[in-house]
Amino acid sequence: MSSPPNQRIERSRRAILDALNQSFPATRQDLSRRTGLAPSTVAGIVRRLLAEGLVHEDGAADHAGRGRPSSRLSPRRPPGYLVGIDFGHTHISAVLASTAQEIVAEGRVPLDVDASASNALDQAAVLVADLLDRAGVPAGSVLRTAAGIPGPVNQVTGQIQSATILAGWAGVRPRQELIARLGGEVVIANDAELAALAEHTHGAGRNVSDLIFVKASHGIGAGLILAGRRYTGAYGASGEIGHTLIQEGGTQCRCGQRGCLESVASIGEVWRQLIAAGLPPSERPDDLSLHALLGNPVAARIVADAGRRLGRVLSDLCNALDPAMLVIGGELATGGDPLLEGIRESLRRFAQPAISDRVQVHSSSLGPRAALVGALTLAATESTP
Ligand SMILES: [Zn+2]
Repeated sequence: MSSPPNQRIERSRRAILDALNQSFPATRQDLSRRTGLAPSTVAGIVRRLLAEGLVHEDGAADHAGRGRPSSRLSPRRPPGYLVGIDFGHTHISAVLASTAQEIVAEGRVPLDVDASASNALDQAAVLVADLLDRAGVPAGSVLRTAAGIPGPVNQVTGQIQSATILAGWAGVRPRQELIARLGGEVVIANDAELAALAEHTHGAGRNVSDLIFVKASHGIGAGLILAGRRYTGAYGASGEIGHTLIQEGGTQCRCGQRGCLESVASIGEVWRQLIAAGLPPSERPDDLSLHALLGNPVAARIVADAGRRLGRVLSDLCNALDPAMLVIGGELATGGDPLLEGIRESLRRFAQPAISDRVQVHSSSLGPRAALVGALTLAATESTP
């Protein structure tokens, strides 16, 4: 069933504005490629956005207002600041930036975020106040704050919806809580979704319109960019692949089920196996990086095995969604080539050949900052009408 023309135009207009806000300047061709819209549709909508003053163009347009194909478009931005916040499981990071996403201050505090939502939200407000103070920016100049949460955020109610994934936050409405503490506009998203947005706009998957970011850490979740847009699902719980059953009757998972992907391939489980195998030789590092161990063949095999298990679940996801790229992030991504090769091996075995032959598998290029960069991108993107 096709949508009425007005709705279709509105959706296309929104897609173009989002694509431009995410990364600019951009040519009409860039926008067509990123949104998947026909060049003629992009040209028509851009003409209206220029007339409305929402977009400006460097280089002259021709007399018909069509613009040269190579001339570059940027959004017109109000003066002010944006804040991005990333709630990790063990830290809070925040960044203060101009509306053109130029960073003016950034900070991080270690904290057990899962233990108490209200304490984590209070600490986030303290961190943001500190950034504003350091940069000499009055709180009233912040136009919008976007925050990433390491759990599913119900897009309808705004509540954290899972008592098993982020127990200390179940039922909390982080948007309202942050508005009460910070004022202004606040948008909330799942952290893997934000990391996907960041990799799509600034990272390994720049301009790739269909990509899946996999956050493989203590938990395992996926953020989806489909047809150039962040895809949250009907209620915001898309991409919760960590609790896919992979081993009938396997290890007990924190969700109550046995044999979930998380229980066999999380960073915690990989470190447990490394220690059981007599590795690592010294203390495990605070950042849980596997990199220093990869020269050891036993360690490389353990990491590759986690990659194969992760790849088994990603194969099904690829069969369903046909992404052009998988971007692997989180601490497990420090497993480098052995991890990626394990994933590719499972894709060759379990995904349809037409899919496994094409899909690219990369490590995150933004690393631990991916969700924070994504929060800033979202703060810049959600604004425009
Ligand atoms: Zn589970």
